[in-house]
Order: sequence, then C-alpha cells, then structure tokens
Amino acid sequence: MSKHQEIEDYRQQLRECVKCGTCRAHCPVFKQVQSEAVVARGKISLAEALLDNKIDLDQRIISDISQCLACGRCVKNCPNQVPTDEIILALRRRIAQKKGLTLFGRGVSTVLQHPRLMSLLTRLGRAFSWLVFRKVPKGSGLRLRFPSPYISRDRTIPPIAPQAFRQRHPEFIAGEPNKPLVTFFTGCMINYMMPEIGESVLTALKELGMNILIPKDQGCCGLPALCAGDGPGAARLADRNLEALTAHKADYIVTACASCHSGLTKHFRELGPDHAQMAGKVLDIHEFLYQQGLEEKLRSLPRQDNPRPVTYHIPCHLRKDDLKETPRKLLSALPSVRLVDMKHAGACCGLGGTFSVYHYDISKQLGNIKAEGIRDSGAEVVATACPGCIMQLQDTINHAGLPQQVCHVLEMIATDLQNAQKS
Ligand code: SF4
Ligand code: SF4
Repeated sequence: MSKHQEIEDYRQQLRECVKCGTCRAHCPVFKQVQSEAVVARGKISLAEALLDNKIDLDQRIISDISQCLACGRCVKNCPNQVPTDEIILALRRRIAQKKGLTLFGRGVSTVLQHPRLMSLLTRLGRAFSWLVFRKVPKGSGLRLRFPSPYISRDRTIPPIAPQAFRQRHPEFIAGEPNKPLVTFFTGCMINYMMPEIGESVLTALKELGMNILIPKDQGCCGLPALCAGDGPGAARLADRNLEALTAHKADYIVTACASCHSGLTKHFRELGPDHAQMAGKVLDIHEFLYQQGLEEKLRSLPRQDNPRPVTYHIPCHLRKDDLKETPRKLLSALPSVRLVDMKHAGACCGLGGTFSVYHYDISKQLGNIKAEGIRDSGAEVVATACPGCIMQLQDTINHAGLPQQVCHVLEMIATDLQNAQKS
C-alpha cells in the first residue's frame, strides 16, 4: 500500500518558515482565538520542537494541532509557500501513530472505508431517522433529539437520501459517439445525502452530449480519514479510487465537491506516479463545463423577466484563482439569475472536516461572519460549489434565522436547462 510522507520529511520546508507572521493576518481560526499555537507559524514551531524532542505530544498540543480548517490560506499568503496544511496533516498522522485515533476519527475512517457498512448504516439511519432526529422548520435539515459527544444538538445536518445516487444509475450512460468519456466521482455527501446534486451534474453533462461513467467501486475520496490522522486508511481509499477511476481510461474525471477535488488533485499525489497522473485528469465540474462551452449555451437561453438575486460562496478548496471564478461565470450566464455580491464571499464557512466536530463554537463564530454577508447581500439564494459548505451554510442560516435557500451551482444550472427544454 502507498504511504504518505512522515513529519521528518518536511524538515527542509519547516526551515523555510522565516517566522514573519504574515500568516496571522489570514488564518480564520487565529482571528477568532488569537492564540499563537493555532496559527501556521505556531504550528511550525510545534513541529520543530517535536522533531527536536523538546516537547511531548500532550493533550494541549494535540488540541492545538486539531485547530486547523485545512483551508490553505496560510500557504497561499506565505512568502515562502511553506506547506503548513500538509505539515499539519503529517502531525496528525504522527499523533495517530503515537496515541491512536480519536473515537470519532476511528469511527468515521472505518465507516468510510467499508462501503457495505456505510450502506447498512445509511439504511438504519433512514429507518430510525424519526427516532433520532427532529426536523428543522421549513424542511432545511435535521437536528439530534438526544445529546451526543460529537454532534451538537443545535447543529443542522442533511437527511439521508431514500436511495443513494450511485444505486439509481447504470455505470455507463452513452452520449454522442464523438464526445469525451467523463468519469463522475460523486463523493460521499452527493451519493448518500444530496443525490439531487448528482442528478444536476448528469443533466449538465448530457446537455453537452458527454459519455458518462459512474464507477460503482469508487469510494470516499479519503480526505476525512486524512484529516482525522488515519494515513493508512486514507491511502487505502486513494488506492481503491485509483483502480476504480482509471479502469476505463476516461478522458476526464470530474467532481462536484470542492473537498473531494482537493483530496483527489492535491493530497494523494505523493502516494506515487499513478496517483499523480490520475490527479492531473481530475477537474472541478464547473471548470470542465466551462471549458466545454456550457457558459455560451447558458447565455443563449431565453432570458427571464424577473431573475432572482443569487450570491455565491467560494469554497476554501476552490479559492485558487483559476477555479474561483468559473462557478460565478456559469451562474451569471443563467437566465433565471441576477448575481449579487456578498461581503466575505471567500471567508471560510467554518466546516473544515473534523474541525467543526471538535471546535463547533469556533465554527459558529465563523458562521456569524458568513451570516452577515448573506444578510447584507439581499440575495434570495446562496449558491456554492461544495456539499460540505452547503451543509455548514444551512446550519449558519438556521442559527441566524435567515430566509435564504442554499444550493449547489449545478442545481441552478440544471433547473434552467430543464426549464428551457420544457418551453
Ligand atoms: S508560515 Fe510563512 S507566513 Fe507564516 S511565519 Fe512562516 S514564513 Fe511567515
Ligand atoms: S490551513 Fe487555514 S486554518 Fe489551518 S493554519 Fe492555515 S490558515 Fe489557519
């Protein structure tokens, strides 16, 4: 099985931190907690001290290392591009090696590595949902009825779908003979909780005549296991996906989940040349649709008289310059949409994988920043490009008592395409 780098392998990059403190101005967690131990510079100092045997992995240090959203802002703004996000993941792997995974981390990682167990749990979750959860008003999600050590009772989570997305469709959907073969990597949230996003992806791909492959053997992208510190588990998932996604030599691999995109394109390259080669084929769905000319097609649809004001939240994992504008370009081309700006559009929603489980209070503080932007935007709908952000933004909106709907950009695209076909 392939293996990630150890924290010792980052010695050179650690030395490249000149302790300038620029990262303090960009770290969303530091802005909330104002503790040097949580910012990139502080974490780099912790890693150095650990490698020099000056500190032990005690509870306080483990907690400091868990306080990271893996948002990558520190790396992007660092004068030396020190890969702090990767260093933090290496530190978490070291913690797991020395102290074992947390109960929550072990649970998540185990379930995501075993699709049959996942299917069983989702079936049980559906059957007993009424017993365990209560509905949030206006059908915007569920909340736990009982206290739980990991999920706060005031947290909104999406319901499990009646049928998983990959069960609804054949592995191959034929398009036009001369068009590319596109593999759709669904990710867990779309497969089990938000299959309507998957349906929207199919609508858009079919509109362009693409031949579509939805491999049954694909699994979790591995990012949740990696963030929890389970390096071997994440690598097993990455190896399984490599086999499933490359078996048919598709022209492209697309995903509609910004976090899965980050997992597939960035975090598993170091596992070997095959992984790196596959990562080169993975595209965010918006980028792919834009490259294939969907924007022009959308602009040619008949305009609607009263387009709805819609604003766009930029997921942290799509903040790279070339990726951040494409969803917005597609949205602004839609006949039913009047795109409006949002203050803090690029601020983190506060999810950060396991971060929001362990540090939900900080997540909610970050949510307050988003709520202010959403409220002031005057939008009726908040569109974004990541199912994880959708879940967190819905939670924020519920806490703030706002009326806005949250949805995926692809859902808006599919609705306009379908309306155009009907008219
Ligand atoms: S991580 Fe980068 S930005 Fe932060 S202190 Fe080190 S060199 Fe400066
Ligand atoms: S990845 Fe984001 S949350 Fe983590 S240290 Fe860097 S800026 Fe802070």
